Amino acid sequence: MIYFDNAATTAPYKEALETYMTVSEKYFFNTASIHQSGKDAARLLEAARKQMLDLMELKNYDLVFTASATESNNIAIQSMLRRKKQFGKTILTSELEHPSIVNVLEEMKQDGFNVKYIDTKQDGTVDLEHLKTLLDSDVVFVTVMALNNIVGSVQPVREITKILKDYPKVHFHVDATQAVGKADIDYNGVDTISISAHKFNGVKGIGGLFIRDLATMKPVLYGGGHEYNVRSGTVNLPGIAAMAKALRLTLGEAREVNKRLSQFNMKIRESVEEMEFIRLQPKAAPYIVNMSFVGAKGEVVVNALSKRGIAVSTTSACASKLATLNETLLALDNEDNVIEGSIRISMGRSTTADDVKQLITALKEVYEELGDVLK
Ligand code: PMP
Repeated sequence: MIYFDNAATTAPYKEALETYMTVSEKYFFNTASIHQSGKDAARLLEAARKQMLDLMELKNYDLVFTASATESNNIAIQSMLRRKKQFGKTILTSELEHPSIVNVLEEMKQDGFNVKYIDTKQDGTVDLEHLKTLLDSDVVFVTVMALNNIVGSVQPVREITKILKDYPKVHFHVDATQAVGKADIDYNGVDTISISAHKFNGVKGIGGLFIRDLATMKPVLYGGGHEYNVRSGTVNLPGIAAMAKALRLTLGEAREVNKRLSQFNMKIRESVEEMEFIRLQPKAAPYIVNMSFVGAKGEVVVNALSKRGIAVSTTSACASKLATLNETLLALDNEDNVIEGSIRISMGRSTTADDVKQLITALKEVYEELGDVLK
């Protein structure tokens, strides 16, 4: 199977798996145990934490380890909104967010919060002028993802941080799950930032939440007080050590990988440009190409490619469970048949020129095969 679904998840680095195994064998202890082995495990935990803060250039931040970006997003939103309730009720977010943001915010409406959506520009980034018009004294929380998981648009995080300087009451959260190693973003000034190891060739079941001011955070789940009393539960040290390793390797090779993927991205786009019934979404981060077979269903295209040994994904996979069209593609003003026929091709560090060649051949074959369905 040729894998073009790296935005869904990535294959772990061999080195990260080795770290996972070694730590599982040699440091299986509970980091909260006070005997020497527990202390050794705790030292390793703090070393991994410091390494990750250094690598992300967030030296004055704290890092709370979680099980996923979904959990990190939930902690940031639920914990903060409980504190902020007395100061205001308005939340601003982009139209491009992952369900682990949107569905939590929608649930927060039950607690009396209003959710307002910032308009999206044609290039897939949030409209900063619209953001400015939405900001008022009732806004307590703003959340905008760093890199969109459907089309790959990179959001102006730094500019938003600057705009929000005039609104000290606002907590700014960034879901950076897709951005690690994919876009060079300065997160300094952002209040909380979510990441997830399985998106950057770490193992599954481990994530993080970078926090600017730890004193402001409260737990969502209560327990034994691990992770600064923000995220209780015995710490997943093997996963954390493997994540720190994956982060170092990812950032170390990011420039070279992105350069290669940019060329592949261009090749894929060029190969379908002449096809009348294919629509390409705007160019964004190199690893994602989102295209629609207009008139066909995305699922049919995914299955036809799968039969040829190629794994891509539909962009409507998450949204289809909610029986709606994909929000990101709607925000970009795509017509229904463009959204229904869309597929997401997402490359990774292991994608080769030959993989891309085979993908292009298969895209052409499927296009021919669909024939009159396309319109
Ligand atoms: N945010 C974004 C932008 C994502 O792409 C994903 C994964 N699809 C998540 C959050 C959730 O990450 P996790 O699988 O670690 O819960």
